[in-house]
Amino acid sequence: MSYSKEDLRDLFDGKLPWERVKEIMSQPKDDDRFDKYVEILQERVPWPERILLPLGEHLYVVQKDGERIAKCDCGHEFGDYRRNWKLSALMFVRDDTSKLEEIYPGIRCPDPSLCEVREYYCPGCASLLKVESVPVGYPVIFDFLPDIDSFYREWLGRPLPQEKEFKDMSYEVTRKWGQR
Ligand SMILES: [Zn+2]
Repeated sequence: MSYSKEDLRDLFDGKLPWERVKEIMSQPKDDDRFDKYVEILQERVPWPERILLPLGEHLYVVQKDGERIAKCDCGHEFGDYRRNWKLSALMFVRDDTSKLEEIYPGIRCPDPSLCEVREYYCPGCASLLKVESVPVGYPVIFDFLPDIDSFYREWLGRPLPQEKEFKDMSYEVTRKWGQR
């Protein structure tokens, strides 16, 4: 079972008629869906590095010079994908009533002594990449640390060259902050 790239492109963009979406949803997943999806994404980005995995609406893990880095579609690079990219993003924290009320007006406004809303922006294009709503002082959340080698090796059946150790390396960033 396989769908055309045109159908998949419209599916991802939300442009496919519901009847067709329903038909695709009720079928078993086609074997090459991931590859076609990555192909579609690859055609849309302006840079040449190979996309290994999408991380979000604007973010991808890409292969670059033997490294795997998080990269925005604008071209901004966040470094090794095993370090939480949020630690290298621009951050706006809504931690008082006036800032929270801009998005939660009136009675819906949360208590800023209990909760804060953090917005993470790309330093290259200022796109809003992620929003997290957390208790005050809660550590920055690492949303998604994919085990890319296992995925390619065990799910796709074609291991990537230069396997990397699967571990969270975010402490490398925060340790540097402590040394300043
Ligand atoms: Zn960007």
